[in-house]
Amino acid sequence: MVWFRKSKVENNQSPKKADIPHGLWIKCPDCGDIVFKKGIIENHKVCPKCNYHFRLDIRERIKMMFDKKSFKEFNSNLASVDPLGFNAHKSYKEKLKEDQKKTGLTEAAITGEAKISGHRVIAGLTDANFIMGSMGSVVGEKIARAVEKSIEEKIPFITVSGSGGGARMYEGMFSLMQMAKTSAAIAKLHQAGILYISIMTDPTMGGVSASFASLGDVIIAEPKALIGFAGPRVIEQTIRQKLPDGFQRAEFMLKHGQLDMVVHRKDMVQTLIKILNFFEK
Ligand SMILES: [Zn+2]
Repeated sequence: MVWFRKSKVENNQSPKKADIPHGLWIKCPDCGDIVFKKGIIENHKVCPKCNYHFRLDIRERIKMMFDKKSFKEFNSNLASVDPLGFNAHKSYKEKLKEDQKKTGLTEAAITGEAKISGHRVIAGLTDANFIMGSMGSVVGEKIARAVEKSIEEKIPFITVSGSGGGARMYEGMFSLMQMAKTSAAIAKLHQAGILYISIMTDPTMGGVSASFASLGDVIIAEPKALIGFAGPRVIEQTIRQKLPDGFQRAEFMLKHGQLDMVVHRKDMVQTLIKILNFFEK
């Protein structure tokens, strides 16, 4: 906390590590309880009180999902340009630079080849920490190229979506085009008869949910993940009706046929292994 650090500096004392409670505890965004951060990390980053699955960044997800050191990244040098010269309260270029620094990623998606209990797969993951995990030209291109690789190698394709932003508005029509591009790539994948597993995590919204994320042969979500197109507030304002409890949450989407299963993070790898075994020729 700011007041705490300031007083220490004023007194000219160097703050001791044990004095700083900052960062030890974390507030669960779902139940509001204050929980011990270390306990959360040991628990696959799931709230022990309400089962809320905290958002993971791409690297945490890769570590959790794939065999140790098996992930080989594709196209890591692809970076966004600013096709519209977008400049509102902050320019697109500035926003990119800011999020690159914050996340250590060049873009909101990482794609590559990896192994899950020895099964070779091609994977594409998006990270909600980078411009809300929104899909600009680079994210779309990376996903499409990864799909092509999957067709070429004849191995399953898996995506893990963490995208609250959908299509990236800083790129206007270029970003909307990515919905068509990734969907067309997935159609080719289906034609080639290759398995596609889509995992939706909190949040999977907008243009990402309306394109590749919803096109899986098997669609899995993490508990309580927010999944939808427009957010609940926008819908309520548009239809002028109160939405039912749990609307757009994974459990609601499962009940309404949008998903095949809701899987706890601790069981995700085992579930993937089961599905991969089942489909393997
Ligand atoms: Zn909680």
